[in-house]
Amino acid sequence: MRKLFIAGNWKMNKTMASAKEFANVLKSNMMHDEVELAVIAPYTQLEILVSALYNRPVMVGAQNVFQETSGAYTGEISIEMLKEIDVDCCVIGHSERRQYFNETDEIVNKKLKLLLENDIRPIMCVGENLEVRKAGNAISHVKSQLEKGLMDINSDDVMNTTIAYEPIWAIGTGETASPEQAEEICSEIRNFLSEKYGEMVAEEVIIQYGGSVKPENAEEILRKPNIDGALIGGASLDVDMFMDIYDKAYFTKKH
Ligand code: PEP
Repeated sequence: MRKLFIAGNWKMNKTMASAKEFANVLKSNMMHDEVELAVIAPYTQLEILVSALYNRPVMVGAQNVFQETSGAYTGEISIEMLKEIDVDCCVIGHSERRQYFNETDEIVNKKLKLLLENDIRPIMCVGENLEVRKAGNAISHVKSQLEKGLMDINSDDVMNTTIAYEPIWAIGTGETASPEQAEEICSEIRNFLSEKYGEMVAEEVIIQYGGSVKPENAEEILRKPNIDGALIGGASLDVDMFMDIYDKAYFTKKH
C-alpha cells in the first residue's frame, strides 16, 4: 500500500532564521505514520533543517542538483554536496527550472540517475502548459516527459522515484486543476508506468499532484485513487496551512 507523501517546495523563500522557526513548529505537531512529509528548501537552509529535524519523521529536500559530479560549473550544487548535508530527497525537472534554466528531459534523466545512485529520493516533476492543454495534448506531453526522463531507469529505481504531476497553468496561479483533471493525468501516468514496468511496479510508485493545493482543496484532490500526495508551493510557506494539508491528507479515505 502506497503511503501519502506531502512535500512543501519553498522555492526562493525564507531565511535560515525563519526556516528554523518553521522546523520548531513542525516538531510540535503530531505526526502520522501513514503520511510522509518533506520540506524542500533553498540550499542555505538545508543544514539547519536537517539538524533541527534530526530524529523526526520529516524529510528535508533540495530543489535541484547539478547533473555533473564536479568541476567548473559556477553557481551549481553537486550530488556529493547534497549527500554531505544528508538530505533525504530532491526535486528535479520543476517547471520553473525547465522554463528559466532550460532543464530538458535529458538533463532531468541525468539528475535522476545521480540521485538514485546516491540514495537520495527523487521527486521528478512533469506537466503541461496551458497551450498544450488547450490543444488536447496534455497526456501525450506528460508521457513524452516520462519516456525521456525515465530512460534506462529500472523497476527497483522507479519504485524509489516520486513523480509529481504539476500542470504549469496551475502553479502559483491560484487556479487548481479540478480533482478529475488531476486524477485523469495521474492515472495516465500510472498506466504509462504499468506498460513500461508492469502493474505491480506501477502500483508502488507515489504520484503527487501539484498546482495551487491549499487546505480548502486538498481533501478532494487527495481522495482520488491515483493521487498519493501533493507538492505544495505557496501554501507550504505557512506552517499552519502546511500542517493543515498534512492532517487533511491523513483523514482522506485512504486511512
Ligand atoms: C510548486 O511550486 O511546485 C507548486 C505547486 O506551487 P503552488 O502550490 O504555489 O502552485
